[in-house]
Amino acid sequence: MTPLLLPLVLLAADTLPKKGEPPLTEQTKRSGGVVDPEQAKLRLDAADLQIELLPATRSLAGVATLDFTARAELRELRIDLDRNLPVGAVTIDGTALAPGSWSNPDGRLRIALPRPIAAGRGFTARITYGGTPHVAVRAPWDDGVVWSTAAGGETWFATTAQGYGCDLFWPCLDFPTAEPSAVTLHLTVPAGLKAPSNGKLLGVDRLPDGRTRWNWRVRNPNTYGIALNVGPYEELSASYSSRYGNTVPLHFWHLPARRAQAKGLFAEFAPTLDFFEAVIGPYPFADEKLGVVETPHLGMEHQTINAYGNEYKKAVEGFDWLFHHELAHEWFANQLTAADWDDFWLHEGFATYMQPLYGRWREGEARYAAMMDLQRQRVLNDAPIVSGRVRTSEEVYETAKGGPGSDIYFKASWMLHTLRGLIGDRAFFEATRRLVYGRPDPKPGNFRPRYGTTREFEGIVREVAGRDLGWFFDVYLRQAKLPELVERREGGTLSLEWRVPGGGSFPMPVEVQVGDRIERVAIAGGRGSLAVPEGAHVVVDPHARILRRSAALEAMRGRP
Ligand SMILES: [Zn+2]
Repeated sequence: MTPLLLPLVLLAADTLPKKGEPPLTEQTKRSGGVVDPEQAKLRLDAADLQIELLPATRSLAGVATLDFTARAELRELRIDLDRNLPVGAVTIDGTALAPGSWSNPDGRLRIALPRPIAAGRGFTARITYGGTPHVAVRAPWDDGVVWSTAAGGETWFATTAQGYGCDLFWPCLDFPTAEPSAVTLHLTVPAGLKAPSNGKLLGVDRLPDGRTRWNWRVRNPNTYGIALNVGPYEELSASYSSRYGNTVPLHFWHLPARRAQAKGLFAEFAPTLDFFEAVIGPYPFADEKLGVVETPHLGMEHQTINAYGNEYKKAVEGFDWLFHHELAHEWFANQLTAADWDDFWLHEGFATYMQPLYGRWREGEARYAAMMDLQRQRVLNDAPIVSGRVRTSEEVYETAKGGPGSDIYFKASWMLHTLRGLIGDRAFFEATRRLVYGRPDPKPGNFRPRYGTTREFEGIVREVAGRDLGWFFDVYLRQAKLPELVERREGGTLSLEWRVPGGGSFPMPVEVQVGDRIERVAIAGGRGSLAVPEGAHVVVDPHARILRRSAALEAMRGRP
């Protein structure tokens, strides 16, 4: 660097946004929650997003063409968009609106329509916008864009939006059931960089100035699943022959400096995919791709372009947990999407439980038990997993806001483990399959992404298992505290009694090992008993099938 250039560089660095800048409004930070009545009148059918990435100024310039259908008569259009990306022009069905017809006081763009739009009518809004997108502080735990540099000094860029929502960088309806049926992306990036994104690659255009435009189309994307990724990537690709008879394109975009490690991770794609297809069902987006991109943040389940930033760390389980976790979300988040964030555990609990199941698939019961035990130590029990109210993403994720926080991962995973022990493998996996695909017999082409709820899953379990398990779900999902098993041994009798928060019935049978025999003790009216010979060695729940209060764990932590 020459001395002459130094002041210029300093000046530029001074004006660039730092982490956490520019600030976001509360509205932009909200994702999900109660739907605005004006937005409930809209259906976003499709979006076409032209986005230019401008690293020198850390800004972006966009044109969003949004196809809507009015569900009720509309006089105003309300679309979520961070006000850090001011709108420069709006057209409705090709007619330009006068400046002043729109405003964005708080992160919800309000567009006054020139004339009312009748219920049932389709229309197109074209919104030109751009500016400095919010820089995440610690993605993916908070959201925004991430500016980084690769080893050669090139721009390395990513986005995350799960907590704050899609409105961080494109105009959208920011609640889980607002998935458009298609999003087309046209991403213009500096010369020499690549922009792997969601769905299918339509083509790459070379612009006269040396930049490239990457064109992608994705169907039914999760609203937070659209992602921008830019870097000097190298690409690994292969074609996977599925047990369902179709083929799945596999792609991994990684930084050139880590070619050898990237090849190692890429070798995990096919066996992991086989596990999910065997245990859950067909890969939901085989007609597009299974895609992963190396990112300057830990990871996120961006649909068909999963973010991977786990640094290729090796683990005793013999597979990369982060890659596995995000891939699980293609089934549990992207194929099956929670209709409301209150049911966030449908994404994270199932994805977390898939990991010990994969350990079991690879190495058997000992690995499964070891992985479950690590998860057990992370169960908090401070707030119920499901509140029964419509909630925003942050209200669930943040324990400071009264949410269950990480219990949607580890406690929900242990709830699923307990459920599987209670109803058996056949019923458990059939219920899971029906939840994910909306049918018991998924095959490539006979299902679409769908929305699900906790209540729906309970109904499916009731049908498949042939009995009502409301008592089970009420305790594990709707109470903070765990059930406690009280054991008493008097004379030749072992008595067992369940004490459950809320005081309801909890007829959970319990296995007991007496000497070298295992007995199943039925529990009726909260109690059960078993004759045990004097002096016999007894172990209650020897396979740890049941999530219940552990005095040892509480003593170790020094808290309930
Ligand atoms: Zn996750």
